[in-house]
Amino acid sequence: MSITRREFSRLGALALAAQAFPSVSGVAQGADRRVGYCVIGLGRIANHFLRGVAESSTSKITGLVSGHRGKAERIAQQYGVPKSSIYSYEEMDRFRDNKSIDAVYVALPNSMHAEYTIRSAKAGKHVLCEKPMSVAVSEAEAMIAACKANNVKLMIAYRLHYEPITLKTIKMIRDGAIGTVQAFDSSNGFNIAPGEWRSTKALGGGGPLMDVGIYSLNAARYLTGEEPERFTAVASTIDHDGRFNDVEENLSWTMRFPSGAVASCSTTYGAPMPGYYKVFGSKGWLEVASFGYQGQHLRASYSPGGRGTPATTVDETNPEQDPMHFVRQADHFSRCILENQTPDTPGEEGLRDMQHIQSIYRAAGISMG
Ligand code: NAD
Repeated sequence: MSITRREFSRLGALALAAQAFPSVSGVAQGADRRVGYCVIGLGRIANHFLRGVAESSTSKITGLVSGHRGKAERIAQQYGVPKSSIYSYEEMDRFRDNKSIDAVYVALPNSMHAEYTIRSAKAGKHVLCEKPMSVAVSEAEAMIAACKANNVKLMIAYRLHYEPITLKTIKMIRDGAIGTVQAFDSSNGFNIAPGEWRSTKALGGGGPLMDVGIYSLNAARYLTGEEPERFTAVASTIDHDGRFNDVEENLSWTMRFPSGAVASCSTTYGAPMPGYYKVFGSKGWLEVASFGYQGQHLRASYSPGGRGTPATTVDETNPEQDPMHFVRQADHFSRCILENQTPDTPGEEGLRDMQHIQSIYRAAGISMG
């Protein structure tokens, strides 16, 4: 591999920076400088994360927190975690003394994110917390404050911010490829099974908006680069079959951004609703299909010369397979820890979504938190 003098200097600077910050990161020195993660909650998303970390060169699994000892022991064996690094929820705080654990991944039901983030921060561990960050704006603020007070980093697991098609789409819009953004259109939902914690207010904090509508909200923000300032919303429940005693079944909302761009989004727990967004600009449009774990597909058509001039088209799919989103996400947070950088999706990013979710629920006449 040939390397230019400039690249060499940059690598040298990075190596120096890594040496300069061991006490900030708290990551053990030595040959293995991978960041050690303790996974809190061993459900569906944790399984993706575990597999992603196993493929990462910056991260490793060094602890597990679970209410099911047998399941935790099986997973520990699979990922080379010693039994002494398995904790119950009640005794988790003891991991303060476990030097192999640098960070935690909070993969619990939404209403538990705040408590476990704050306890982890108090134990001196960096926190990667799943979306939605919390179920109330005040909780999100408390999580940020706890991480600051304990000098640990906080990242919200918005995995698409680290996905190449998403990054390309953001760059295309910032570079003006489709001209002035006028309108954004997005949906994301699914037909929920009975008995899911997601459809209880106590654990989900809300309905599909909290869980999957947040993808449309977050995309509208990263694509426009703006914060919405006006909201309208309507919610409904059609199926009175016990699944929606606590939360909305359907929710549609609109947002207006300071530039004047408008957004229209829908979410549901009552129908298969494949995730997508479309952005319409003065020079053309683009769309990305799927907020899922793989297969992001970008299509675009725009006229660089303006109205009536020949169009450029784009049709591109990310070929990477699951769990690559989780590899990229873990790599980003681990590098931030090792190099003392702020994550691209810090707690403040999660807080802004919580503030906007509150505004959307208010507009729909639903109370949150
Ligand atoms: P899950 O139900 O599969 O797992 C939740 C885990 O929490 C289980 O291991 C369960 O045993 C444990 N738990 C502890 N206390 C519990 C309680 N009182 N009730 C229920 N479970 C309890 O859920 P999941 O789909 O893995 O979701 C976990 C988090 O991850 C949620 O916040 C969700 O929004 C988020 N998530 C993110 C993505 C993403 O792509 N980033 C995808 C799915 C879920």
